[in-house]
Amino acid sequence: MIKNAAQTNEPPGPDTSILTKGDVQAADWTPESVLSTMSHRPQENTDSPLPFFHILERLKTTKRAGWQRFDIDNGESISDHMYRMSILTMLAPPSLSSRLDIPRCTKMALIHDMAEALVGDITPVDGISKKEKSRREAETMDYICKRLLGKVGGGLSGEEIRRIWQEYEDSETLEAKFVHDIDKIELILQMVEYERSNEGRVDLSEFTRVGTRIELPEIKAWCDATIQERNQFWDSTGKVPRSHLKK
Ligand code: ZN
Repeated sequence: MIKNAAQTNEPPGPDTSILTKGDVQAADWTPESVLSTMSHRPQENTDSPLPFFHILERLKTTKRAGWQRFDIDNGESISDHMYRMSILTMLAPPSLSSRLDIPRCTKMALIHDMAEALVGDITPVDGISKKEKSRREAETMDYICKRLLGKVGGGLSGEEIRRIWQEYEDSETLEAKFVHDIDKIELILQMVEYERSNEGRVDLSEFTRVGTRIELPEIKAWCDATIQERNQFWDSTGKVPRSHLKK
């Protein structure tokens, strides 16, 4: 199932659509595919950070796509998701925080989905391979960190953002593994919140699978407690959630 950009994102204006899914053949996608459609194309190779600041607005206006298959159309944006994740990193229990560079984790949470400003939120149902998704994201981060930020403050901030994004992507350090788990628990929290606010009319069971891939025991405990809350909620409705799509 491939949704077009208009269905899965709400970009700022009609001429700034995120061309990612059905619109551009997978291997043809470049940051240019999106930039060429923008009425206010950000200036490159300048010492001003403003073009980058404006690109970040797209994270506020692009919705997380996974919920829209369940008719949750006014749901969270990508930056909503990254904001709560960044706060969660600051609440790491002592058994984790004693082993982690927490400020780096907080930065990683704020940066990890930045490429979606141009790439959009690609979900497993979009038919785009992991490798292709990661190619688009890496090219977008190069565009942001080099072409937009390369001359800002000597390029140091751009280099740091690019490095932290790569660390998350490689998922080898404890910090990166922790932030990957935080990415998952943030989704589980949101799943329960949408089910509650829709008073049991929306069954988001399929997202519970994400929780089973959490690795660190401390975050697994947060997930288990959240799933307990969820079970209590469904018990209170007298309904039994099932793992099937609404449509
Ligand atoms: Zn994320």
